[in-house]
Amino acid sequence: MVSLEYLALEVTRRCNEWCKMCMRGDPEEVDMSKEIVNQVLLNNDIQDIQTIMFTGGEPTLNEELICYTIELIMKHHILVPRLSMVTNAKKFPQLVLESFDDYQKYCISRNIKSNITINFSIDAFHEDYPDITRKYKEKYPQFQYWFKGLDFVWKTGRAEYGDPFEYKILPMHVQMVMGYLWVMNTLYVTAKGNYETVGDGMYSDMDQLHMGSVFDYSILDLIDKYGKIKNGTEQELKQYLYRCRNR
Ligand code: SF4
Repeated sequence: MVSLEYLALEVTRRCNEWCKMCMRGDPEEVDMSKEIVNQVLLNNDIQDIQTIMFTGGEPTLNEELICYTIELIMKHHILVPRLSMVTNAKKFPQLVLESFDDYQKYCISRNIKSNITINFSIDAFHEDYPDITRKYKEKYPQFQYWFKGLDFVWKTGRAEYGDPFEYKILPMHVQMVMGYLWVMNTLYVTAKGNYETVGDGMYSDMDQLHMGSVFDYSILDLIDKYGKIKNGTEQELKQYLYRCRNR
């Protein structure tokens, strides 16, 4: 079994803004499909995911997929204590917020300590939408809100200046814990269905260099190729993966 610390889902590459420092480059007419979500969540022998982050693009432009993902988590009783979304706050996503609210009630009914966090991207590079951020807080005071300004800018995508950025795939740090593998760093899934490790950078870089399609590789396959074991030897990790595959 696998335990993920942080799963980021790039639910769309569309956007309703045009920030001049956008590290993604230009938006694309690509939405994540339900098949990608099914493949990641249902075909990887997942024990729990500590946080699922909905990102993009602007994730509120694909409300249907976010709601679908939450329904899937509840239907299959996947343990996910924390849901999070980063948004530019230009749109009030009524369906997503109702779904987050349902999820919180579901967690309470099952004694799961849950946390819903909305990160507003509001800084010198993003428009401010105070009426909409106020509406979030008034209608859903039970969620946590963060105003996530940029501390720095990566010089990639549309950014003409900023800190040097090199797009790369990082090792997956894992630990063997009581019979399951804990993936300690971020696992990112692009809207096109490819696995990636951080989620920063241009869409075109992510399309060229990634860890493979969710339809071709399981998370165990990724660990086999990119995993770095923190509390054992490579040999022990290989043996564990072999046992998992032959159960
Ligand atoms: S920074 Fe975010 S809100 Fe701005 S254009 Fe890029 S994806 Fe859209």
